[in-house]
Amino acid sequence: MEVTLKPIGCIQSCYREKFGIPRQPNLVTEARASLWLEPPFTLDAVRGLEAFSHVWLIFLFHTTEAQGWHMTVRPPRLGGNKRVGVFATRSTFRPNALGLSVVKLEQIQLVGAQVVLGLSGMDLLDGTPVLDIKPYIPYADAIPAALAGFAQQAPPEYPVVFSEQARMDCTQKSAQWNCDINLLIRQILAQDPRPAYRAHDGLDTRRYAMKLYDFDVHWQYTTHGIEVLRLNDLS
Ligand code: SAH
Repeated sequence: MEVTLKPIGCIQSCYREKFGIPRQPNLVTEARASLWLEPPFTLDAVRGLEAFSHVWLIFLFHTTEAQGWHMTVRPPRLGGNKRVGVFATRSTFRPNALGLSVVKLEQIQLVGAQVVLGLSGMDLLDGTPVLDIKPYIPYADAIPAALAGFAQQAPPEYPVVFSEQARMDCTQKSAQWNCDINLLIRQILAQDPRPAYRAHDGLDTRRYAMKLYDFDVHWQYTTHGIEVLRLNDLS
């Protein structure tokens, strides 16, 4: 049997490239996105959803879909050198390339004729096609005593400091984007976005950058953790 799916909407996210996006939702609470529903969906399709604080999103890993999938993968949480089955991981390289994230629903608005859901805490790239939305139901969906293999606990967090220049850049960008950019960057980099093999490689002298909104964030590793150097406008 073949299945054809049509996206119900598209994500506009602060994450403008794959590198740096947290590996799960809710680690970076300051991350913001809008989900723009496509026609024919009107406010009727989300009537009652405003009473839920969180929603599940089912989406397509659209930028990696063409790269296919692997029977086994090496999760970063296992140091990137131990293989487990694809279905024992949340890897993007999976059959059907479907992603699943529980995210915070901040608001529901009408912009012109389009329904727009304001979201936070998500781990989705800008432009991600969304296939379905379902309300999060704690009594059924939350299982606090569940066993979670190699991912029982949230990953450890890296200390992050800002240069004077980076602090000033954050103030300017926070006003422009109506978001606490300093907190956003701190939460993202605390996850240490490097591939596992780099993170375990001793002192790393490379300079790193990732795209958020309309700027690049530049940082480097020091013996104390991460130092944010500056933000650069994307031209
Ligand atoms: N919570 C989801 C996603 C886990 S993988 C799930 O469990 O299914 C998280 C990674 O997905 C992020 O680090 C980001 O790099 C990647 N990602 C997010 N949106 C994507 C997209 N549209 N295409 C490809 N990769 C994406």
